[in-house]
Amino acid sequence: MTAMATRIPLIAGNWKMFKTAAEAADAARSLDDLIRDVSGVDVMIAPPFTALSQVCAVLEGSRIAAGAQNVHWESEGAFTGEIAPGMLKDAGCRYVIIGHSERRQLFGETDQQVNRKIQAALAAGLTAVMCIGETEAEREGGQTFSVLDKQIRLGLEGVSFQTPGDVVIAYEPVWAIGTGKTATREQAQEVHAFIRDLLSRLYDEELADKLRILYGGSVKPNNIAELIRMPDIDGALVGGASLDPETFAQIVRLGD
Ligand code: PEP
Repeated sequence: MTAMATRIPLIAGNWKMFKTAAEAADAARSLDDLIRDVSGVDVMIAPPFTALSQVCAVLEGSRIAAGAQNVHWESEGAFTGEIAPGMLKDAGCRYVIIGHSERRQLFGETDQQVNRKIQAALAAGLTAVMCIGETEAEREGGQTFSVLDKQIRLGLEGVSFQTPGDVVIAYEPVWAIGTGKTATREQAQEVHAFIRDLLSRLYDEELADKLRILYGGSVKPNNIAELIRMPDIDGALVGGASLDPETFAQIVRLGD
């Protein structure tokens, strides 16, 4: 790899199916107050759809960006229960999480669907946070790299970037999500370096060097500092520990 790009860390919170609109707005307000003095880190929170408008109103003028947890690939139509990319933009979102392992495992989302969602998100001007990761059985079976290779190749098939910031990749080993088991920083770094190398082969070195790769899986205030020190770890996608503003603020401070 040539001269290393300076990648601004991104700390992203996935609130999953938690918080009413009022609770989410309160949490967003508290977080905004708690991290007002923090600089040099980008921050995103992804509340449930029903809270997006209120959270975006609270975050207006704040440095915290809002994201959604899912999106459909069509721009409108008879797709009961789905939300279009333009609707997320309209609600005030900048990011959308795509292909989270819970969607893949519990709702049968495929790499092809992830691909369509990414293309639609980019076309609408959203930043796609593309989640990938191996299961415990796949890791134990020595398939980690082949699984990730496939998820990335299929997920990004035909995706052309306007800027390296169009997509953020979140490496989330499925065995580390919500389990309290974190990948060691060496395990995570090994995978992140593999992903960056693959991106440089699929696209080019400049894009690979600039694109942010987050780690996700039981990130807490007490492990973020050691993870973020690794050369290819550019931030974190945080589930459980993002629900409490004080705890999440400590992660945004990178554990200091
Ligand atoms: C997630 O859901 O993306 C996640 C990483 O969850 P947790 O931090 O709770 O493991």
